[in-house]
Amino acid sequence: MEAMLYIHVPFCRSRCIYCDFYSTTHGAAHRAAYVEALCREMEQRAEEIGHTPLRSVYFGGGTPSQLSPAELERILNVVSRCYSLTSATELTLEANPDDVTPQTAAAWAAMGFGRVSLGVQTFSDPLLRLLRRRHDSRQACAAVETLHRCGISNLSVDLIYGLPQQSLPLFRADLRQALSLPVTHLSAYCLMVSSGTPLARAVAEGRLRPADEDLVLAHYKALVEATRSQGFEHYEVSNFSRPGYASRHNTGYWDGTLYLGFGPGAHSYAPPRSASEADGAGWGTRRANDADLTAYLRADGCPSFSEETLTKEAAFNETVFTALRTRAGLPLAPLTARFGRPWVDSLLREAEPHLRDGRLSLRAGCLALTAEAVMVSDTVMADLMRAE
Ligand code: SF4
Repeated sequence: MEAMLYIHVPFCRSRCIYCDFYSTTHGAAHRAAYVEALCREMEQRAEEIGHTPLRSVYFGGGTPSQLSPAELERILNVVSRCYSLTSATELTLEANPDDVTPQTAAAWAAMGFGRVSLGVQTFSDPLLRLLRRRHDSRQACAAVETLHRCGISNLSVDLIYGLPQQSLPLFRADLRQALSLPVTHLSAYCLMVSSGTPLARAVAEGRLRPADEDLVLAHYKALVEATRSQGFEHYEVSNFSRPGYASRHNTGYWDGTLYLGFGPGAHSYAPPRSASEADGAGWGTRRANDADLTAYLRADGCPSFSEETLTKEAAFNETVFTALRTRAGLPLAPLTARFGRPWVDSLLREAEPHLRDGRLSLRAGCLALTAEAVMVSDTVMADLMRAE
């Protein structure tokens, strides 16, 4: 058994127009207090996983690269003192290109970050300005080269497609540029218009119009073709990697690995320890720390949180949903062992029309989305879910 840690760093220098992640732009004065509160939380919760070896430690945000090397080192010291790091533990830092300098990159490499996930989003300067990103395309390219030169060779770049004013040639240029850099991993997400964001207001007022469905589909096809032609494996709907470089952390979310999330707004998950626990005490638990930095600082390592015990239906739906997003698909034998034959038979009955029409395939005991169906995956998956 393995476990994962997620550390939420809730600071950003400014807000991007599409973002609904929990972060604050007024946090600089609170950074030192946040680091201390975070370290306290990590110390106090270590007993939740005992000596379970860590598969991964992931610093996400917000903007983790806003922390100084000394602050990151302080956090990593607590991780290595209280948890079981191994030589195989994947250590990832999310970074914004404007925070990457030869000094920060060298410091991150020296403290053991083997993987950096860089929030590039697009290489088009007008689109970067539209999104209110702080970097330009020249800085994004320079950041990748700098990290690589400093010895961080496992580099991921995030892109967004379906943006307002993002033509197909513009997105193809993004892909060409990303894949010409020394990167091992690409995550590409379709733009979501989340309520409450400046983007949602601009769309509602008619000032911006996201790409229409046909253009989004063309973007996605271009993405799949470009990554394939460069030897990347398409291992999850939105994730592509060179062979051997699939994110161990992301993969853990999809295969039900236990994880502890620290910091305001961070989520944790504990699977049931045994079949008998699943029968008696629920099908795993999810916990979410309250997304409130001020309250987090006051709580001195014991933040308020909400917790949910999963029902069998919720656990089944999550298993089906996450597995179908992966290239490997949903293996039916373990699903049957876990949830019973009648539920799997019922799933296969619902899958039948999609198998017939080529949206799903069933090979070697695995149910998988076909490449053509990825853009309608929500509809297919909705048919396979059980009522909760
Ligand atoms: S830098 Fe990242 S977390 Fe911060 S506002 Fe932009 S997208 Fe959101």
